[in-house]
Amino acid sequence: MSVKNGKKIDLHTHSVFSDGELTPEQLLEEAQWAGLSAIALTDHDNVDGVERGLAAGKECGIEVIPGVELSCEFNGIEAHVIGLLLEPTEVFKKELQLMRENRETRMDKMVQKLKYMGMKISSEELPRTAGMSLGRPHLARLLVKKGICRNISEAFEKYIGDRGPAYVAKKRWSAEDGIRLIKESKGVSILAHPGASGLLGDLNTFIDLGINGIEVHYPQHSPQVEKDLLALCKEKDLLVCGGSDFHAHGVGPSLGIPYIPYEVLQKIKERKDALWQGF
Ligand code: AMP
Ligand code: ZN
Ligand code: FE
Ligand code: FE
Repeated sequence: MSVKNGKKIDLHTHSVFSDGELTPEQLLEEAQWAGLSAIALTDHDNVDGVERGLAAGKECGIEVIPGVELSCEFNGIEAHVIGLLLEPTEVFKKELQLMRENRETRMDKMVQKLKYMGMKISSEELPRTAGMSLGRPHLARLLVKKGICRNISEAFEKYIGDRGPAYVAKKRWSAEDGIRLIKESKGVSILAHPGASGLLGDLNTFIDLGINGIEVHYPQHSPQVEKDLLALCKEKDLLVCGGSDFHAHGVGPSLGIPYIPYEVLQKIKERKDALWQGF
């Protein structure tokens, strides 16, 4: 068994292929600085950065796990479902593409709302690299850059947060469909940050839907929440997962925090092998 004792990993990260600020190559450089032996690239509704991540990982000797963070919906609540060790099918890639196209039109509507509120802002000022997944953090950064808001938090609080006057909902998969899509791409499905999404009371439903694991270790989870989630994972034979949800330098969580041992990834790999044995 190749358990790399003492090695640390991060199974939740974002790049410029969604709302992260680093390219996959820069992210791997950051992972080197953080002393990580493996990272999962889990961009929102996008797997197009994975290839570059894999190549950069090879260069610097860090294992890169192909992943995604799907925007799903459960009882009106946004539920993020992470897929790890993915082998994306063409159908899955097409679904992701449609979701990203919807993110573009939704962002145009949000910009329109801000214009009606008197802001001198245009859709063309947003980053629109081919294949990227456009999100509210891009708009928040633009509002800061233009001096309309002092910082990202203010942009969310005053304008584009879930209850903000310029908020427009994006299309989301049902939690059921998200879990199914990951399964069809031979991935392992993980319910992301349930403690930060307000989903701690709904875990049994996700288990019934066939989720493979839970993101237990997460910067916003209290020790008590982690303890309860660990107990649930043990009781229901669910995978334990964890990561930082790193997006950018100096804003939000740092790469590699909280500490996740390599053993967590080893168990995820073993579960995938068990699920797909003979296929
Ligand atoms: P979107 O998927 O476009 O609706 O954007 C959601 C993303 O915005 C989340 O994944 C977070 O990265 C970020 N976000 C949500 N709320 C806030 C907030 N209050 N402050 C900073 N970032 C936020
Ligand atoms: Zn994000
Ligand atoms: Fe998330
Ligand atoms: Fe995330």
